[in-house]
Amino acid sequence: PETILVQELANRMAERVADVVKSLMKMGVMATMNQSIDADTAELVIEEFGHKVVRVSDADVEQVIDMIEDAPESLRSRPPIITIMGHVDHGKTSLLDAIRKTSVVSGEAGGITQHIGAYQVTTDTGAVLSFLDTPGHAAFTSMRARGANVTDIVVLVVSAEDAVMPQTIEAINHAKAAKVPMIVAINKIDRPDANPQKVRTDLLQHEVVVEAMSGDVQDVEVSALTGQGLDQLLEAIALQAEILELKANPDRSAMGAVIEAKLDVGRGPVATVLVQNGTLRKGDIFVVGEQWGKVRALINDKGERVDEAGPSVPVEVLGLNGTPEAGDVLNVVDTEAQAREIADYRLQASKDKRAAAGAATTLEQLMAKA
Ligand code: GDP
Ligand code: MG
Repeated sequence: PETILVQELANRMAERVADVVKSLMKMGVMATMNQSIDADTAELVIEEFGHKVVRVSDADVEQVIDMIEDAPESLRSRPPIITIMGHVDHGKTSLLDAIRKTSVVSGEAGGITQHIGAYQVTTDTGAVLSFLDTPGHAAFTSMRARGANVTDIVVLVVSAEDAVMPQTIEAINHAKAAKVPMIVAINKIDRPDANPQKVRTDLLQHEVVVEAMSGDVQDVEVSALTGQGLDQLLEAIALQAEILELKANPDRSAMGAVIEAKLDVGRGPVATVLVQNGTLRKGDIFVVGEQWGKVRALINDKGERVDEAGPSVPVEVLGLNGTPEAGDVLNVVDTEAQAREIADYRLQASKDKRAAAGAATTLEQLMAKA
């Protein structure tokens, strides 16, 4: 079951598929680009080409999927993924809506955004940004707890009326723990009692030194209500993204993270997936958490059907056999048999874990009684 398509192997190494086939032939392995080879053979080929093998423990069948590191020359820049955080009522939802509206107004034909849990906007200077549509710290931490680090940049919204509040501090701590850079959006600047300077000095006490205070954290005064400063905020994000040099390999098979999933009455299980690496295509076979499937349709944030979704693109995925959970990782695999096997393995593993946890509590209860 530990196999990889010859084509995929070539994509990951950024080598010509013909050269890979030739190298296999030299080893006495006859395979075409659409055939699979086993992990051991793949490892030999990878070494032959002078690439790095990152082979993880065999016991963990799921890890085999990520056996090969993407070659540096296969990497292309990708849009940043942004999460908005901040204290309740400081304007997270309003800001997300305002940003979305700017993109619709300036936007593409018939651009009515769908709520799929994330959306993309293009700035005036042409930078593409992906926003996670689920503000709040719970989403951020639960995704991280599940191993899905989907955020590149945190926009910290602080009301210019109230300045730093408990959940502002919480957000700062989350961003710092995740080592995600922050941009401060000082919101409600339209209010007569707005005091943006108080926000800046308050932040100093939490070791967030904004540019206006000679630090290196960008701060932008905005109003989600009037739209003031939104363009500057988007440009600040684009600039931060440039500094981060975010990259992915669009030519490999896709991996991504589920940001929302539900069982839809008409369409069956539907998951919004943020593609993190590779390109997800119609017809791809994939495993996602304890579920697997074959992509029947992909729907973008404008409600349009698309054939593929590249790095940092959010898409609704149809064709799942069950409903995954937010934070689950999606990996495209070669065959249905492989997808089924990995999903079954994970399901069994989590059953075993639950059983073990159950046994432990019973033992504890017994001890308590004794
Ligand atoms: P959230 O809890 O952080 O998502 O905050 P909301 O987006 O729900 O906003 C809370 C309240 O502040 C709502 O009544 C908004 O209309 C209002 N609000 C948000 N942004 C602004 C702004 O820039 N200016 C003004 N005057 N009100 C705002
Ligand atoms: Mg809100």
